[in-house]
Amino acid sequence: MIVTTGGRSLPRTGSDGGDYALVRALGHTVTEVDFRTMASRRADGLFLAGEILDCEGRIGGFNFQWAWATGFLAGRAAVRSL
Ligand SMILES: Cc1cc2nc3c(=O)[nH]c(=O)nc-3n(C[C@H](O)[C@H](O)[C@H](O)COP(=O)(O)OP(=O)(O)OC[C@H]3O[C@@H](n4cnc5c(N)ncnc54)[C@H](O)[C@@H]3O)c2cc1C
Repeated sequence: MIVTTGGRSLPRTGSDGGDYALVRALGHTVTEVDFRTMASRRADGLFLAGEILDCEGRIGGFNFQWAWATGFLAGRAAVRSL
């Protein structure tokens, strides 16, 4: 199976099983954001939230809470930066 992302094709190499199938942590590491604003330390003017960051929780609402809380912080900081 091939997963296409951003125009590139990547080979599927495995699975973490059903417990993790509902959430994916993506490429930006949480150590490279300011948690007060969710601003990236790598790119000025970039604010990150939810699954774009490499943070994931077990099933039970933790991922929704992460997405909503970081989305609130990132959105507020992005508006204030304008
Ligand atoms: C079937 C399923 C069940 C789940 N159940 C739970 C649960 O019970 N509890 C829990 O905590 N978590 C659950 N999750 C995980 C939770 O839904 C996610 O962690 C959370 O929604 C991530 O939020 P997000 O804003 O980061 O990403 P998303 O919710 O994926 O939002 C990303 C948005 O960006 C849009 N988008 C993508 N590309 C572009 C583009 N180029 N331009 C503009 N817009 C774009 C997409 O259309 C989408 O609306 C579940 C996930 C799945 C798939």
